[in-house]
Amino acid sequence: MSVKKLTVKEQSFIERLRKNGILEDLDPQKLRQRCPNGAVVVYCGDGDRSPNFYLHLLFMLLHIQPDEPVTLREIFSKIAKQSLCFHSQAYNGGPLRLIPDIPIPAEYKIHGFLQRGLALSSKMKKQPSVILSNHYHCGLGELANLILPEQIWLIKVAKEKVVAYGHKPENVIPLFHLDENGEKMRTYFVNAETREEIYAHWE
Ligand SMILES: [Zn+2]
Repeated sequence: MSVKKLTVKEQSFIERLRKNGILEDLDPQKLRQRCPNGAVVVYCGDGDRSPNFYLHLLFMLLHIQPDEPVTLREIFSKIAKQSLCFHSQAYNGGPLRLIPDIPIPAEYKIHGFLQRGLALSSKMKKQPSVILSNHYHCGLGELANLILPEQIWLIKVAKEKVVAYGHKPENVIPLFHLDENGEKMRTYFVNAETREEIYAHWE
């Protein structure tokens, strides 16, 4: 497993975005209000990273602290009691794959397939809420040569694509997850309205 840390430039960029409200620290209560019974979650299936994202999200919503001793049985019981259901659509690159013109080789494009899969999951699970989460560093993002500000912006583009396909905008929650090899995990709401708004803080 390769360990990738944010550069100093990237770290200060993230801090500026937080200070300006473009990235907002994920508040579990606020998230729960927007998806009371869970959501269909589109995120990257990277085997080194996705368990961190998924468990981080789940533990936050179940109010389990990272260092809390808890058994699997207790976790399952909490999930059942709180009627939480996270239904995964986890392909490499996650929501980046929803964007038709993402600069990756044509044979890797699955936007139509992923949109249809997402719509079917929402219907089958009777789940209107959708969480879209990009993560950094993402192998597919690197394959597409996408720098950090672009990967943050593209989460909003992915939301537009999903809304255009029929999901209600208020039900689609764009998140951005930073994970430095499990040492430091942070998840943010992405509040940017324009690409320029994000790039204004990238120096
Ligand atoms: Zn990834």
